[in-house]
Amino acid sequence: MKTNFLIMEDCIEDSNKKIIFNSKTGKSLTYNKKDFSTFNDLLNEKEIITQLDNLNFWNNSTNEHEVSRKNRVSFKNDPASINLIILTHQNCNFRCTYCYEHFKKKELPLEMQESIIKYISKRILKEEIKHVNISWFGGEPLLGIKSIEYISGKVIEICKDYGVTYGASITTNGYLLNKKMFERLKKCHITYYQITIDGPKEIHDKQRPLINGAGTFDKIFSNIQDISSKLDGETIIIRTNISNLSLPYMDEFIQTFNENFINNKQIYLDFHQVKDLAGKGESEISTDILLDIISKFVKSGGNAYPIIRKIMPESACYATTTNTYVITVDGDVHKCTVSIDNNDLKIGQMDTEGNMIINTTKLNEWTNPKLKHECNECLLLPMCWNNECPLKRFQCEHCHSYKGFEKKLLNLLFLQKTIDYNVKIPS
Ligand code: SF4
Ligand code: SF4
Repeated sequence: MKTNFLIMEDCIEDSNKKIIFNSKTGKSLTYNKKDFSTFNDLLNEKEIITQLDNLNFWNNSTNEHEVSRKNRVSFKNDPASINLIILTHQNCNFRCTYCYEHFKKKELPLEMQESIIKYISKRILKEEIKHVNISWFGGEPLLGIKSIEYISGKVIEICKDYGVTYGASITTNGYLLNKKMFERLKKCHITYYQITIDGPKEIHDKQRPLINGAGTFDKIFSNIQDISSKLDGETIIIRTNISNLSLPYMDEFIQTFNENFINNKQIYLDFHQVKDLAGKGESEISTDILLDIISKFVKSGGNAYPIIRKIMPESACYATTTNTYVITVDGDVHKCTVSIDNNDLKIGQMDTEGNMIINTTKLNEWTNPKLKHECNECLLLPMCWNNECPLKRFQCEHCHSYKGFEKKLLNLLFLQKTIDYNVKIPS
C-alpha cells in the first residue's frame, strides 16, 4: 500500500462499484467490484498503478504524517500572499434569529482604511508578495460600500504598479446588491459573492428579517435574478443554512432554485447546518441529514457547490492558516469572523501607520493544534488535523463533521461526477 490514508466505501448509487478516496491527496477512484475482489488485486495490476502514479493519486513519501501536515497548512500560509478579511461596517440592516454579532453600528473609519492600504503597500515593498486577496465582510459590508471602493481603488493601483495579482470576494446578505451596486463591485474586482438565503420566502423571512421585522426574500431573490444575466466570470454562492425549523421547506426551495437558476452554472447552492454560534439554543440538524439534502439537490440536476472543494486537504478554514487576518472597524485583528466580539480571542491590533502587531502565541493557538490520541490512526487526518474549526476546538473536544459519514460523503463525489479515475481492467 502506498499510503495509509485511503477511505474505501461501497458506492451507494451504483452497487457494483467501490469508491476509494485518498484523504492526503484529495484524489478518488472507482472500480467495479466484480473486476477485483480485493483492493490488493487492483494493486497487482502494473498498468493501473502507473496510471495512478501519473495522476498523483498517492503522492508517496516516507513521512506521511509530516508531509500531510505541511500540505494542509501550506495553502494560505503562502508567505507570497496577503489575505485580509475586512469588516467595512459593523452594523447590519438584518436581524437574523441565529446571528452571533453584537453590532458596534460603526463604519470602518477613514484612518483605518488608510492604515490598511499602508499595511499592504509596506508588505509589498518589503516582502516578495505575489498576490493580494481581500474578502469584504461585516455586519453587512455593503453598508460600507464607500470604504470598499476607496480601499479597492488604492490597492488595485498599488498591485498593478508592483506586478502583484489581486482578487476579492464578498459575503453579503444580498439586500442592497441591485444591478447598480453589482456594477460598482465589478469595478472593485470582486468576483466571488456569498449570499445567504435560508429557504423559501416563508422560512427565510422568519429567520432573516430586516431590523424592522419585514421580510427580505423577495428583494434578495430579485436582485440575484437581475444580476444573474450580467455575470461575466463572477461566481455566486447561495448559502442556505438549514435548521430543524427550515428542514421541511427544503424540497420547495430546491424546486424554486432550479426553476430560476438551473441553467446558470455560475450560481451554486451551498447547504450548511445552522450552528448555534450565538448560544441561542438553535437545535442543529445532523451531518447525515445535511448530506442527504445535498444528494437530493444534486440528483435534481441542481448546481451544488462541489463537496470535493470542501474536503481537499488544502481546503482548511482560513482561521487555521498563518497569514489570513480579520480586521474589525476598530483595527482589532482576529482569526475568525464569528469570534470578533470575544476579546480573549483577539490576536493583534492594527495601528494607524500601517502596522499590524500580532501576538504569535495567540496566533499559534489557532494554527497549531495538538492532535488527540485517536488522530494518529484516523483516515481523515490529512483533511482535519484536529482543526476543522479551531473555534469549536476551543469550546470542546470534537471531530471533523464528516467523521462517521464517509460513505455518504464519497457517494456525493460520485454524484457530482468529481471522481478522478475510473479503473478498468487493462485489455
Ligand atoms: S479530530 Fe477526529 S476526525 Fe479529526 S483527525 Fe482527529 S480523530 Fe480524525
Ligand atoms: S474557525 Fe470555525 S467558525 Fe470560525 S471561520 Fe473557521 S470554521 Fe468557521
